[in-house]
Amino acid sequence: MPHTTPSPYVPEIGETVLDIARNRVGEVMAKGKEFYALRPLGGGREWDAALPDIRPLSREQALRNRVAEVNVRSTGRVSCRYCDRLRLDRAVALRELDSERVLRLDGELAEHARAGHPPLRAAGR
Ligand SMILES: [Zn+2]
Repeated sequence: MPHTTPSPYVPEIGETVLDIARNRVGEVMAKGKEFYALRPLGGGREWDAALPDIRPLSREQALRNRVAEVNVRSTGRVSCRYCDRLRLDRAVALRELDSERVLRLDGELAEHARAGHPPLRAAGR
């Protein structure tokens, strides 16, 4: 039987990965054949991610996501118009697989949440 496809990315248990179908970063909790159980970095309800939707994150990216998640959790899940805008930008960046931009927006979101959701700056529209 010929091997025509390159071996796909296989996440490890405990790895922090990106689920591009849900725009979420999670930790791999369990492996299935085609679906993996992912858990939000801040804890909470697990979800199933299809293997083709799972993308690896670099060690640095994973760490930054964890930090951002913890910051958001510690300041509460408050939302405001600025949050919404950043999340929208983030969703677009994620769809375009622009991980650098996703991470930058994660950082901005965390920073903004830590600052107590200040209103939009004059420069930001
Ligand atoms: Zn906000």
